[in-house]
Amino acid sequence: MDKKNHYFDYASTTPLDKRVFEAMKPFFTDVFGNPSSLYSIGQEAKKAMDIAIKKITDILGCKPEEFIFTASATESNNLALLGIARANKKLGNKIIISNVEHKSILTASQALAKEGYEIVGLPINKSGLVNPAELAKLLDKKTILVSVIYADSETGTIQPIKKLGKVIAESRRKHNRATPYFHTDASQAANFLDINANNLGVDLMTLSAPKIYGPKGTGGLYLRHKIAIEPLIYGGGQQHNIRPGTENVPGIVGFGEAIEIALKDKSKEQTRLEKLRNKLEVGILEKIDKVFVNGNQSGRLPNFSNLSILGVDGETLLLYLDAQGIIVNTGSACNSRTSEPSYILGAFGRSDEYIRGSIRFTLGRKTTGKDVDYVLKNLPPIVKKLRGMSSPKKL
Ligand SMILES: *Cc1c(COP(=O)(O)O)cnc(C)c1O
Repeated sequence: MDKKNHYFDYASTTPLDKRVFEAMKPFFTDVFGNPSSLYSIGQEAKKAMDIAIKKITDILGCKPEEFIFTASATESNNLALLGIARANKKLGNKIIISNVEHKSILTASQALAKEGYEIVGLPINKSGLVNPAELAKLLDKKTILVSVIYADSETGTIQPIKKLGKVIAESRRKHNRATPYFHTDASQAANFLDINANNLGVDLMTLSAPKIYGPKGTGGLYLRHKIAIEPLIYGGGQQHNIRPGTENVPGIVGFGEAIEIALKDKSKEQTRLEKLRNKLEVGILEKIDKVFVNGNQSGRLPNFSNLSILGVDGETLLLYLDAQGIIVNTGSACNSRTSEPSYILGAFGRSDEYIRGSIRFTLGRKTTGKDVDYVLKNLPPIVKKLRGMSSPKKL
């Protein structure tokens, strides 16, 4: 039996790229100085950090001071929502978020609702897209923030961020205000899509290093110049007082390296992974009946395949696949502890039966045709077995 792992969960996390690891190494041991210190090993660390920031901000098309490092995309999303809401309270209390946001946006907005903010959900249409005209209807003078994910983490469906940005800019003009600000979570999208902030028309954008083959414990938030934001933590003035605390120098160096590599390989990987994903998906649809694709099939990230396999339980299937060395996830990786049905697939109009039978394959840099062949060989007999086991009345 093939004991090698066939990893199909790149949306949960990616392996650290060896080149990134090499670039980070000296900053754990030799160049360990505090970047705020004036002596040379401090300044050497500062210089490396500045180079990394420039690599990132060149890709975002912004100034170095417009990017804030955090410890995770979760923190970035919290900073964006709580920070903008609290700093701009005088301008209004309404916040609009789409119905397919990551749990960190959803729960941060629930916390804001307790503080008295009005949180308005923006539904997606039949194709899984936020409709710019629907957003236009919801925008008013007291809306201070809109948050719409660039590509969701369950189906990879790509939202029309540019168009939404135009609608938001129009609302600002109409009301002659600086608000609403526009935030997008680009954690999944950054591997494949344009993340130039001005092209997209966003004011804030969340990034995550461990989703782009960078180090864990490293996230970031693009924050347009001069936008008022309240920090989540207080300290010694680092990062313009927006996110103080001694910087994670190895992490930041790794982030810079990782994003540069991702950009370089982007179009090649896009084509390669799309072909592999399609081979996987078409193969599964051919070999197994009652399988349905979740998400917008004409506008998804190239590495996502979220499938509802009716008559099986996604989590049971996950465990059977794991026993064969195939690593996948169910609807939502982050919900697996709570085992509640995915609200994102629910927003896509899927009933509980479809959600229960959903598994998510996400491909990445190390995925090969052999991995896909291995799944196509091993998945059908497992599904057959599980379908045979489940009692008809339970279905
Ligand atoms: C993974 C992910 C996050 C959260 O990342 P953490 O590293 O767990 O903080 C947020 N948003 C999206 C879209 C993600 O895919």
